[in-house]
Amino acid sequence: MNIIILGPPGAGKGTQAQHLVETRNMVQLSTGDMLRAARTSGTEMGKIVADVMDRGELVTDEIVIGLIREQLEKGSEGGFIFDGFPRTLAQADALAELLEESGNTLDSVVALDVDDEVLVQRVVNRAKEAVAAGNEARADDNEDSMRTRLMEYYKKTSPLMGYYHAKGNLKSIDGLASIEDVRTSLAAVLDA
Ligand code: ADP
Repeated sequence: MNIIILGPPGAGKGTQAQHLVETRNMVQLSTGDMLRAARTSGTEMGKIVADVMDRGELVTDEIVIGLIREQLEKGSEGGFIFDGFPRTLAQADALAELLEESGNTLDSVVALDVDDEVLVQRVVNRAKEAVAAGNEARADDNEDSMRTRLMEYYKKTSPLMGYYHAKGNLKSIDGLASIEDVRTSLAAVLDA
């Protein structure tokens, strides 16, 4: 089964994806994680993406599509969870092509319904908790960058809701419920 978890920054996509990895033998493809790995690798691409990410803007479609293509080639027995990808219509079209080329289907697109102010508060708290625990906060987990990330989401990513609705595989669940309850709703949608 191949699925997309869709939702604004801080909605909890990664948390839910991680649980599916543990319980369903699926492979999580988080372009955010891949880009964070790329930026610390000291490569030319890493330097380019670091600035863009810290501002809260989107990295080019070309870069993220390339990252996804590489991972899809490795295959996954339990299927893939796309987390933070696609984020633009061009990425969504590219994903459809890549899946078709490799003989795969897209089974579900699950949107996490959330409230913006809660999201801003979540990422600001996530940064504070990281610092309190003696870790480094994500450079883009601050209020300014978060507001830019939200705006990028509404301008470029939220049209994907209409896109997948038209394709017939969009399902929405309440993302403001507890982590446990979101897990339960997600499982219900995937097993329906
Ligand atoms: P969040 O969902 O909390 O914003 P992510 O880890 O998914 O965090 O993404 C962090 C940043 O990485 C984004 O703000 C963006 O700069 C970049 N990024 C991640 N995925 C993509 C993508 N599919 N297309 C373009 N940029 C991306």
